[in-house]
Amino acid sequence: MDLLKKRIQSDGQVLNDSLLKVDSFLNQQIDPQLMLKMGEEFAKRFSGESITKILTIESSGIAVSVMAGLILNVPVIFARKKKSVISNEALYCTKVYSFTKRESNSIIVPKNFLEKDDKVLIIDDFLANGEAATGLATIVKQANASVIGIGIVIEKSFQPGAQKLQQAGYRVESLARIASFSNGQVNFL
Ligand code: 5GP
Repeated sequence: MDLLKKRIQSDGQVLNDSLLKVDSFLNQQIDPQLMLKMGEEFAKRFSGESITKILTIESSGIAVSVMAGLILNVPVIFARKKKSVISNEALYCTKVYSFTKRESNSIIVPKNFLEKDDKVLIIDDFLANGEAATGLATIVKQANASVIGIGIVIEKSFQPGAQKLQQAGYRVESLARIASFSNGQVNFL
């Protein structure tokens, strides 16, 4: 998606050979117009798949997921990384190793939001080793629902996540695919 690639080129900061900072439009300050365009793009790529729900993970997957949910006219669920004190319902739960925090955390989704007939589109902001997306897919499986596909805003294709998910049989649609970082520059596939 050219608009996103241009934004990454102009506003992204390459922190080292594997980390990209995009706090000015995706991870801290959010550009709603760009989120809407990306939501439209996900909705287009998965149109005809009869998606019934979108599942993402807090916090950076939420904005773009809501836009995709608006266009597809389906609810958006986000997995929490910490149990809320007001949650008293049964939960789906799995462990995810965080690429940026370098620690394992449980991610949780209340059982009442996923049903066995649901056709779920998983969305996340980045794809690195595929841990977050795999964890979300595990939760969909726990509900006996189906993963229709995985939508990613920024795929770092030089890391193993995309290949791992495809080998597991998932359709992965990424809006920007990064081949490498070199001298502070982003090289797209
Ligand atoms: P994975 O689970 O695929 O290993 O990593 C994806 C998760 O780690 C995303 O949810 C995202 O929060 C975080 N992440 C991975 N790589 C990057 C990166 O280069 N920049 C930022 N901002 N987050 C990343």
